[in-house]
Amino acid sequence: MSPTRKSIVYIISAPSGSGKSTLVNELLRLVPGLDFSISYTTRLPRGSEQNGKQYHFVSREEFEQMIRDDEFLEHASVYGTNYYGTARRFLREAEQKGNDLLLDIDVQGAAQIKQKLPQAISIFVLPPDRKTLEWRLRKRGEDSDETIHRRLDAARREIENYDKYDYILINDKLEESSDSLQAIVLSERLQRSGAPISAEDKKVVELADRHRLANIRQRVPPILESFGNLPPSAHL
Ligand code: ADP
Ligand code: 5GP
Repeated sequence: MSPTRKSIVYIISAPSGSGKSTLVNELLRLVPGLDFSISYTTRLPRGSEQNGKQYHFVSREEFEQMIRDDEFLEHASVYGTNYYGTARRFLREAEQKGNDLLLDIDVQGAAQIKQKLPQAISIFVLPPDRKTLEWRLRKRGEDSDETIHRRLDAARREIENYDKYDYILINDKLEESSDSLQAIVLSERLQRSGAPISAEDKKVVELADRHRLANIRQRVPPILESFGNLPPSAHL
């Protein structure tokens, strides 16, 4: 019998500018057997983006037809203007290849996936604080002042959802964050494989565990406060 196993679905969400694309690109370069789900969107391509690479760029009519044909695992209207969606076929294709699948989607999409696929692993990337996020958005040099302020305001709202995720990655030092993200992916694979865990593997699992919500949540309140949000205890 061939050793088939279900694909692990990893969800990664983050406010724009946190460093998610940088981390995802590193992860896909370094970890074999991980497919990236290329979302469909009705927004226009930015800068050097190419159709079929970062996104499948489609019209509103095409997107709405895909919704009617039930082609999406999840879809959402992000920032209230454009549709974004994850096509079911990416999961089918990953499964056929015996690969895992990475979804880069927003908070609403993550909630929909978690409902449909409770075994999916969700990771939220946080910036170290608001000032750093603003600096990274400016450094990228793609956005106007107005867009940067809009993104910072969206970030303030998005980060409130951190506690709906399995793992939190505070992207301070890039190399450390990249190692931790790889550890999360590998640790979940190890644990689902049921194979005995070597001493080397144990280090990977320990590194991943440091980023589990329960183990890292005490580091989040100062980040929320830097965005002007109330600390979590104030919501009780
Ligand atoms: P996102 O995909 O979350 O919008 P990017 O990956 O485009 O963010 O990163 C935004 C900017 O921040 C880029 O210029 C990137 O090189 C930089 N960056 C990402 N992570 C770090 C980090 N840990 N330290 C410093 N700069 C970073
Ligand atoms: P951007 O337009 O900056 O590329 O992405 C805006 C937001 O849309 C990001 O938070 C990104 O994670 C999210 N996004 C991208 N693809 C999808 C998708 O297929 N579904 C959902 N729900 N969100 C997505």
